[in-house]
Amino acid sequence: MRCLVVRILLFGIFFCSSVRLLAVDDTAFIVASLRRHIDVLASPQMKGRGYVRDGRVRAAHYIEKQFRQLGLEPVGDGGFQQHYTFPVNSFPGAMQLTLSGRSLTPGADYLVDAGSASFSGAHLPIRVVDLSAQPNLSVAFGFDPAATMWVLHGVDSFCCRNGVRRHSLPSMLPRGCYIIPQSTKAMWTVDRQQQPATVLYVADSLVPSSGNADVKVQARLREMKSANIIGCVPGTLKDSFIVFSAHYDHLGMMGSETIFPGASDNASGSSMLLYLAGYYARHPQRYTIVFIAFSGEEAGLMGSAWFVDHPTLPLSHIRFLTNLDIMGDATDGITVVNATEYPARYSQLTGINDAHHYLPVIKSRGKAANSDHYHFAEAGVPAIFIYTNGGKGYYHDIYDKPSEVTFRNVPQIALLLQDFVTGMQEN
Ligand SMILES: [Zn+2]
Repeated sequence: MRCLVVRILLFGIFFCSSVRLLAVDDTAFIVASLRRHIDVLASPQMKGRGYVRDGRVRAAHYIEKQFRQLGLEPVGDGGFQQHYTFPVNSFPGAMQLTLSGRSLTPGADYLVDAGSASFSGAHLPIRVVDLSAQPNLSVAFGFDPAATMWVLHGVDSFCCRNGVRRHSLPSMLPRGCYIIPQSTKAMWTVDRQQQPATVLYVADSLVPSSGNADVKVQARLREMKSANIIGCVPGTLKDSFIVFSAHYDHLGMMGSETIFPGASDNASGSSMLLYLAGYYARHPQRYTIVFIAFSGEEAGLMGSAWFVDHPTLPLSHIRFLTNLDIMGDATDGITVVNATEYPARYSQLTGINDAHHYLPVIKSRGKAANSDHYHFAEAGVPAIFIYTNGGKGYYHDIYDKPSEVTFRNVPQIALLLQDFVTGMQEN
C-alpha cells in the first residue's frame, strides 16, 4: 500500500514536471525572471548603461553571460558581441551648480544640455536676457559672454520667430554658460556632438534673477566602443529566422555621481528579451529564434543601424522582427508601431489577444523612427516595435528605477508573443 502511494506520488511529480516542460510558464515565474534581470541591469553598478565608468560594457558582459548560461549560440563569426564605435559627448567628471549661495542637485534640480562643452566659473554675475526682445543672438551677449551666467527668457518666442527648433538653440549660442528655466520636467538625452556653449535646464522656481553663480561642468567628446549582443536558439530550419530585439544601453551618468538607471527604458525590454531567450532555449522551434540586444539606441539608433549595414545573418531570411522597448507596465495595454505596415501580422496579434484576453487593449500605430525596428523595416525586413502603456511616466530621468516598474500585465505580453511565434510558423 505504502509502495503504491509512493509510486503514485512519483508518477504525479514526473507527470507535473513533464507538463511543466511542455506548457507555458506561469505569470509569477515570468515576473520573477523579469525582476531578476531588471534589478541587475538598472542597478547602480551598471552606471546607467552609458558612457561613464564603462556602464554599457558592464551591461554587455551581463547579457552575454546570460546568453552563454542559457546555451544560446552566437550568430556570425565574431562570437556574441558585434563591436563598432561612434562619438559621444559624455560628462565623466564634475557637475556643480550654485545659484546665489544655493547648491543645486544635478538630475533633480537641473539637467545639462547633452551637447554642452566644459565650463568652469566662480562668482559669475547672473544676468537675465529676454530673447523675445533680441533681434539676433550675436548682439544679445556682448563681447565676453563667458564672464556672465546668462538666464535666458523668451526662448520659445525667439525660436518661433526665427524658425529655430528649441533643441537646436544651444548649438547656436556662443561659448559661455546659460540657464534656460524649466516650468515642466526636462528629459535628458545623449549627444554625438559638442557645441561651444554650456547650457543648463534649471527648475524655474530655483532660478534667481540676480546675484551670482558658481558652476563646474566637465564634458568630453570622444569615440566610444559599443557592442550589439547577438545569440540564437537554432531551429530545425537553420536559415529562417524570427528575431526579438531590445536595446540595453541607456543615458549613463551626468557627472561622476548622478545615474540615470533606465529601468523602464530599456532594462525592462532587455529583461523580456532574456526571459524569452530562456523560454526558447527550453522550447526550441522549427524556425531559428534570434535575440539581439542593441547598444547605442539612445545616441540615435546607432547599434541597429550598424547591424543592418553589417548583418551577421542574411536580412532577407528574417521572417519577422519584434522590437521591445519600454516593457515596464502594461496596465493600459500595448502599442504596436508599424501595425499599419503589416496589417496581417497585426490582426494575428489582436486575434490571439481576443481569444486569450491577455491585454486590455492593443493599439495600432503607423511608421515611426523611434526605436531599433526602424532601420530593419526601411531595409525591407518586416518589423514591429511594441511598447507598453502604463506606469508613472518616469522617462529619461533619475527616477526611472526598478522599484517604480510594476510589470503589471507584462507576463501576458510574453504569452502573447509566444503564441504569435507559434502562429508565424504555421503560415
Ligand atoms: Zn528606449
